[in-house]
Amino acid sequence: MTTVQDFWFVFIATLGALLGSFLNVVGYRLPRGESIVSPGSHCTHCGRSLRSHELIPMLSWLVLRGKCRSCGQSISVRYPLLEAATACLFAATFLAFPEWPVRVGWMVLWLVVMAAVSTDLYAMMVPNALSLPGAVVMFVVSVCTGLQHWMGAVVGLAVCFTLLLAIHLLSGGNMGLGDAKLYLSIGAALGAVQGIESLVFASFYGTVIGLVLRAVGWLERRQYVPFVPFIAMGVVTAVFWGHALSGWYFHEVLRRTDVG
Ligand SMILES: [Zn+2]
Repeated sequence: MTTVQDFWFVFIATLGALLGSFLNVVGYRLPRGESIVSPGSHCTHCGRSLRSHELIPMLSWLVLRGKCRSCGQSISVRYPLLEAATACLFAATFLAFPEWPVRVGWMVLWLVVMAAVSTDLYAMMVPNALSLPGAVVMFVVSVCTGLQHWMGAVVGLAVCFTLLLAIHLLSGGNMGLGDAKLYLSIGAALGAVQGIESLVFASFYGTVIGLVLRAVGWLERRQYVPFVPFIAMGVVTAVFWGHALSGWYFHEVLRRTDVG
């Protein structure tokens, strides 16, 4: 990489970390119907306002060793993890996609998806206040940045939403309606084929990790498991490796089955 690219790489990763920090606020406040801009960041236990040096993504949590300096209440590890994940997604997008419009398109999708991860982890829901405006923004961004032709975006969001709505109804509500509304954004960005692919990956991750967590006793039988983090993993897999994996599947697996 040249020096200019180095600068942009660091800038984009830092931007991802700062926005990830903001998504923690979104995840905590949006499901409560609170404003996401005021008041400023504060300890949710004792209410003390945080100074600017306590708001540095990841580093502040490490320096404070995950505890509020005033009241000693522990600060969830979700905060630095969400910041790190968003930073990594932004950095990986910068490296994997050379064109700026496409980079911006995917980064907007990461913000919508990671905001939903955040609300699902904090409140076990994806509020309409996130999923519906998110879908409109994602549709416009997807078409303007060239992620999808407008018809591809319309078909993508319609197919994905219908599929998840069907799963929601058939599963008797085990798959939430919030997940289906989140897929309006994902479908608009990925289109129908990659959108469905992301759901297949998400189900795979959810099943495998769920089985492992039950086997080691970290999960009760009927305990609620947030599904949006698995959706996020599925979407990341589809965006970065979807073409490679489906190409491999069609060429290698199906061809061998034919020969066999
Ligand atoms: Zn405190």
